[in-house]
Amino acid sequence: MDCIFCKMAARAIKVDPVVETDRVMVVKDINPQAPVHLLVIPKTHYASILECKDMGVLGEMMEAAVTSAKKLGVADPGFRLSINTNDEGGQTVFHLHMHLLAGRPLSGRLG
Ligand code: AMP
Ligand code: ZN
Repeated sequence: MDCIFCKMAARAIKVDPVVETDRVMVVKDINPQAPVHLLVIPKTHYASILECKDMGVLGEMMEAAVTSAKKLGVADPGFRLSINTNDEGGQTVFHLHMHLLAGRPLSGRLG
């Protein structure tokens, strides 16, 4: 297994999830782009959103993101969710994940 997020899901490397469910975990990004930068990761491997047809797991990712935002106190001030997809979408880790960015004013434009 050479997928870093699969290793995290299998606890082959140490993780300290902010929120965790049977199918999803939320962890801090190792290279944060904002004071709060979380990754919402399904435990099942999908290379990208293009491969995931499971609306249940996608819904659980959204739910975990909202729970995490509330837990870290950024729901009210506001936050951004994004899923980078393939090269031009800026994806670098090819295991589906959603970014949650918060804790500073995020520019109005995307990117
Ligand atoms: P993306 O560019 O959308 O594929 O995002 C991949 C993200 O994973 C980047 O923001 C990285 O900083 C983050 N990342 C890579 N390895 C780790 C890790 N071991 N723990 C936490 N975040 C990671
Ligand atoms: Zn994986």
